[in-house]
Amino acid sequence: MDFLAGLNPNQRAAAEQTEGPVMIVAGAGSGKTRVITYRVAHLIQKRVDPFNILVLTFTNKAAKEMRERIIKVVGSEAKNIWMGTFHSIFARILRVEAELIGYPKNFTIYDTDDTKSLLRSILKEMNLDDKLYNVNHVYGRISSAKNNLISPQEYNKNEALLAEDRENGRPQMGQIYMTYAQRCYRAGAMDFDDLLFKTNVLLNKHPEVLHKYQHQFKYLMVDEYQDTNFSQYLIVKRLAAVSENICVVGDDAQSIYAFRGANIQNILNFQKDYPDVKIFKLEQNYRSTKTIVNAANSIIANNKNQLEKNVFSDNEEGDKIKVARAFSDNEEGKIVAEAIIQEKTLKSLPYKGFAILYRTNAQSRAMEESLRKLNVPYKLYGGTSFYQRKEIKDLISYFRLTYNPNDEEALKRVINYPRRGIGDTTVEKIIVAADKNQYRLWDVVVNAHMFLDGRSATSVGNFGTMIQSFQAVGNNSNAFDTAMHIAQHSGILKDLYEDKSVEGLARYENIQELLNGIKEFSEREDIEQKTLDIFLQDVALLTNDDNDKDPNADTVSLMTIHASKGLEFPVVFIVGLEENLFPSQLSLNSRSELEEERRLFYVAVTRAETKLHLSYATSRYRWGTLNNCEPSRFLDELNPSYLDLDFNPRNTNGASDGGFKSDRVAWQAKEKDTFSKPKPKVVKTTSILPKAHVPSEGFAPSDTNNLQVGMEVEHERFGFGKVVNLEGNKPDIKATIFFKELGQKQLLLKFAKLRIV
Ligand code: ATP
Ligand code: MG
Repeated sequence: MDFLAGLNPNQRAAAEQTEGPVMIVAGAGSGKTRVITYRVAHLIQKRVDPFNILVLTFTNKAAKEMRERIIKVVGSEAKNIWMGTFHSIFARILRVEAELIGYPKNFTIYDTDDTKSLLRSILKEMNLDDKLYNVNHVYGRISSAKNNLISPQEYNKNEALLAEDRENGRPQMGQIYMTYAQRCYRAGAMDFDDLLFKTNVLLNKHPEVLHKYQHQFKYLMVDEYQDTNFSQYLIVKRLAAVSENICVVGDDAQSIYAFRGANIQNILNFQKDYPDVKIFKLEQNYRSTKTIVNAANSIIANNKNQLEKNVFSDNEEGDKIKVARAFSDNEEGKIVAEAIIQEKTLKSLPYKGFAILYRTNAQSRAMEESLRKLNVPYKLYGGTSFYQRKEIKDLISYFRLTYNPNDEEALKRVINYPRRGIGDTTVEKIIVAADKNQYRLWDVVVNAHMFLDGRSATSVGNFGTMIQSFQAVGNNSNAFDTAMHIAQHSGILKDLYEDKSVEGLARYENIQELLNGIKEFSEREDIEQKTLDIFLQDVALLTNDDNDKDPNADTVSLMTIHASKGLEFPVVFIVGLEENLFPSQLSLNSRSELEEERRLFYVAVTRAETKLHLSYATSRYRWGTLNNCEPSRFLDELNPSYLDLDFNPRNTNGASDGGFKSDRVAWQAKEKDTFSKPKPKVVKTTSILPKAHVPSEGFAPSDTNNLQVGMEVEHERFGFGKVVNLEGNKPDIKATIFFKELGQKQLLLKFAKLRIV
């Protein structure tokens, strides 16, 4: 069968060029991913052993879909291709090789929560102000050091980095990084960035291992190459050094992860690394209508930094792009939900033909509410993963401890859950004893009587014995029997069972679901070792979307634009096209950041096959206040001949012609009008650090008589927040307020200077 006939001549040439370095730089929807898929099938048909093929994708879901397609063409042999995200593939390799670099094979993977929790403990131990040393900032700094392959030792010798930290008022940054790395090592744990960083260390320090994998992976392919960071780039370069059969595909116009260290230069430098590279350009977009492709071209033309490309479509002209204005975010949701119902009938599309894309996760609320009201089924992508839920992480922490008792984050999490009389002070004592003696926490736990006295020594000792008994079960039973034993004997099942609240019930059901998943795993026939540690290996790398129980369900998809990369839908809605939201407020101070926002808009627009809807609201609640919004500059950048301005006559917003240009004029007039009144100032800045709150004028002690639960307030120092509880009697009423930036705080009203907004 000549399945390559499903490619155009250029695509086919790229797929057939299996030997030597190949780069495909091409616009959105031009078949890059399709070429990789067919290329792999072609290799297998040419009798290349699937074990010798490595394909790196951006999401697990993309890998899964690609594999299924290849299996359809060449059969089940394709199961053996090494295909997955950078993180999952190199975690798999590290499981085999970790001991060479001093880690146990059963090393734990710390997820973002574990990392932040560890960083918080370190900041506390070092007595550092966690506002100045904001945990997200610290994490970001360590992460970018690792992604640039700067070890803690190198960091602490790097004058430029240290000076930067000093200037930012964080002179202890280098020490935090050092301690963090030591603590991860002591716990036998790697964080997400370590999976790449340590792979580099492994390949660098152990030529024999590098050699082994260079010979195993005879053919390498990387999708979405424009979003690889330095650490990923170097792994690929090292692995491909012998065979040089490396094919990368990407689109510089879709590079949207610079904020996470991705380096667009990787694609631009490929030619330097491989002077005899064969470059293929694909210019025909097969995904979208002419209108959508041309509109997308008109956006990206505003970016200075880009490779010349001429993307065209031979598909039909298609409908114009609809632009809708709403007077609020809730109305925007309503407009979108109604349009979905209308177009579903008109075009006889299923719900899964629709996607709603937004810049920030917070925008999903208004959309979800409107969809629910109109009974439109939807699925939210991203969001909290099943494996991140508290009860699931609690049980998994027991599993983790069973196989790696040095895992300190897991230990701290469950040493007193369910409660067994081990208080915070005892845990502190354990940590101090461990640090003083250079022990691991676990060593202190199993020798509790040497470090603690009386009752706490007994409780901690019993906890240690319990974990040891789990280890004995784990060594002799399959995954399900071990998991069930731990769920029962740790007391978690009982604790959740006794909680009869609605939430308690839901938590109990989630645990059941986890156990069902493990049962299924224990019964699988395609894997040899069905022990719990194998099940546990990559759980930290799974996202919500990988856990999709019913991928074929007929639902509208809701996701951020970042998550939509590589996907396509017949009808796409891009919502919230307002200045300071999209482009994001944080991107407005530098050309490169603004250009990244524009690429993000380009990605969003090019997801649509037949119809694109854009919308903005003229006012929106942000930080607890209703703000007037200015339509996004991106709307101006679209060639107007592709637009269909359909404005709701109910809210002309004082504008004469109902267009977004006059909305902007109206917005400017309003801004001027309200200039003299106290209003929250928007602080523009280049940094993503949380900003000091700029208070409104005119604070007086709170008017406690009128304060009610649910009200939005502004505090002189803490900023905007919402009252979640009031308790006590006058004059000692205490208010619990959830502040946007700082989280929950309790304040005594007679002292707190609050303003109701
Ligand atoms: P993106 O930049 O968004 O990742 P891409 O370049 O990877 O896009 P694909 O997703 O591979 O593009 O292809 C876009 C759509 O066009 C897919 O539905 C694909 O099946 C289809 N397509 C690509 N090439 C052809 C072709 N030669 N014939 C028919 N359909 C094609
Ligand atoms: Mg693609």
